[in-house]
Amino acid sequence: KAKEAGKDTYALYEPENETKTGARILLENDLRKSLEKNELHLFYQPQISLFPQRRIGAEALLRWHRGGKEWISPADFIPLAEETGLILPIGEWVLRTACRQGKSWIDDGYEPFIMAINLSPRQFRQRNLVELIRTILEETGYPPQFLELEITEGMTLDVEAASHKMKQLRDMGVHISIDDFGTGYSSLHYLKRLPISRLKVDRSFVRDIETDLGDRDIVKAIISMAHNLKITVIAEGVENEEQLAFLEANACDEVQGYLFGRPIPADEFRQSMDAQNAPKQ
Ligand code: C2E
Ligand code: MG
Ligand code: MG
Ligand code: MG
Repeated sequence: KAKEAGKDTYALYEPENETKTGARILLENDLRKSLEKNELHLFYQPQISLFPQRRIGAEALLRWHRGGKEWISPADFIPLAEETGLILPIGEWVLRTACRQGKSWIDDGYEPFIMAINLSPRQFRQRNLVELIRTILEETGYPPQFLELEITEGMTLDVEAASHKMKQLRDMGVHISIDDFGTGYSSLHYLKRLPISRLKVDRSFVRDIETDLGDRDIVKAIISMAHNLKITVIAEGVENEEQLAFLEANACDEVQGYLFGRPIPADEFRQSMDAQNAPKQ
């Protein structure tokens, strides 16, 4: 209540840009404390292969339970974390937590599957990234061939630096995918030169795929280009059967989206695995 009153005071007496600054400082201070206060959580969303249809992976997605009250979406704090450098400790926590979770599922007898983890630009540029990942894999015992790092097109603009790093990761067995593909500077040149396992077709091309001829052509072109380069294609944001039918008809390899499951907490994700098939052993 006192906090709310404080905010109102700002709104009444401060010019608008300073109000924003005030709110931003509050957010930054809270974000700084989020790790030690255990307010960060990972949700997991299934990734499905189409031929045959089965779960082949999960993407770990960050959530912030700010003050134990409101859930904040990564879109609303990752940019701030990136700006302030907080993304480095937060990103390290994400990597460690997802690998530890994945290992505990394997230990419990579930079939291993790909754990996909998002990297931010600053994390990808981090000088000790390769060492950090190696350490986390050793520490958690998570098998490297089941780890996939999602990066975006912008991070590969410096092809030399990116390919050097990506090759070191690949030599460890780790996979790399290009997230939100089609929204950035794509060039065949870098796709050919970088060790990429998967392209993730951006949700914006999938959304209107039933009606938008341009989007249909783009998605078809991405799929055939990727297949020529021996790269797997996964479509993001698949919400209905019509979108799925188009993707199947055009030989898209994999899908992810609300049609197959929303991002959910680890314990719920485990329950969904139990519902599908009991652990072997
Ligand atoms: P992204 O990596 O492209 O993740 C996909 C986003 O689409 C997720 O949003 C997911 O919840 C949402 N989504 C999945 N299926 C559907 C669907 O069928 N329909 C719709 N409308 N949306 C769907 P989310 O979880 O809010 O994450 C947003 C972005 O935040 C992510 O986009 C990623 O760029 C970033 N992010 C999330 N977690 C992390 C993290 O641990 N580290 C970093 N650096 N970035 C993260
Ligand atoms: Mg992603
Ligand atoms: Mg994406
Ligand atoms: Mg996205």
